[in-house]
Amino acid sequence: MIKFLDLKKINDSFEPELSQAIQNVLNSGWYLTGGENKAFEEEFAAFVGTKHAIGVANGLDALRLILKAYMEMGLMNEGDEIIVPANTFIASVLAISDNKLVPVLVEPEPSSFNLDASKIEKYINPRTRAIMLVHLYGQNAMNPGIQEIIDRHKLKLIEDSAQSIGAVYGGRKTGALGHASGHSFYPGKNLGCLGDGGAVTTNDDELATLIRTLANYGSKKKYHCEHKGLNSRLDEIQATILRVKLKRLNADNKRRREIAQYYISNIKNPHIILPALTDATAVAENETAVWHLFVIRSAKREALQSFLTENGVQTLIHYPIPPHKQEAYREMNGLSFPVTEQIHAEVLSLPISPVMEDEEVKIVVDVVNRFQA
Ligand SMILES: *Cc1c(COP(=O)(O)O)cnc(C)c1O
Repeated sequence: MIKFLDLKKINDSFEPELSQAIQNVLNSGWYLTGGENKAFEEEFAAFVGTKHAIGVANGLDALRLILKAYMEMGLMNEGDEIIVPANTFIASVLAISDNKLVPVLVEPEPSSFNLDASKIEKYINPRTRAIMLVHLYGQNAMNPGIQEIIDRHKLKLIEDSAQSIGAVYGGRKTGALGHASGHSFYPGKNLGCLGDGGAVTTNDDELATLIRTLANYGSKKKYHCEHKGLNSRLDEIQATILRVKLKRLNADNKRRREIAQYYISNIKNPHIILPALTDATAVAENETAVWHLFVIRSAKREALQSFLTENGVQTLIHYPIPPHKQEAYREMNGLSFPVTEQIHAEVLSLPISPVMEDEEVKIVVDVVNRFQA
């Protein structure tokens, strides 16, 4: 069986450095808000290309904290609206509603799966405060159309870079394109720790300080509480693991691009639509996307997935149910987003990871090409 994602193999490939790093933290006797977190924050900010990085407990918290900080600053208020792609992973939407802000869903482009700039304008009104731009599946979602809307309406651009660490737009990395960005180090992400972890990146000094405070009970000074904060910190063990893995991230993303390129060049089946890239020039340079997921579409998705399973290729669906059809968002169940609904009915994620062997990649292509509806 070719696994969808062999996490054990990925993490074993960092040994013995990984175990040594963990052992060093154990030996230090210091577990939270310490030197490893601080060093990781500096290294991660340098990697993304922002002034600040703040380690937090997970990717959802990173997004929640950005919005919470804007509310504390008085730049957003309960009931204000945040534009977010209708086909995103639920966490982007949860971060908005958790702050009593209103998620306003907008359709993606079917080819790139990313927000359709031409559909945003009609949702903008005096309560619109921000666009939460999700670089879904590891592909940059930024484009001149979105930048123009941000500038003209003076909106905040909040990036959800959970899937796109290392992806590039116009020479800059995702996570450094807007006012603030959330990142996730969930084990399956391109930069994954061995548990939960996340970070906020920003160039805004005031926002950075406030998020750091909010993530630490709202306290700058121990037992002095300035804000009604929460507890959301990156622990020393996860931070040291991330420092080890960050060093190889560029090489890992390069390997993902090689595999994606091989899939794109060799999958030939009339029942399958391959993913298209947002930025045509970057495709040629093979630079932009970091292929967190390699997502194909098929009108025969269920039959295709069964065929792949029978032939030893494990696949997953990202995601089977769009946010507006989730039970938790009953108030949106009646809305209609035809592009999003079609995407959710047709997408299938093929195996992709830095530790996949050439032989395995070839087998996936062979099985996919043999599928007949
Ligand atoms: C993984 C993910 C998140 C949430 O990250 P966690 O660390 O799992 O909380 C948010 N948005 C997107 C698009 C994600 O893929």
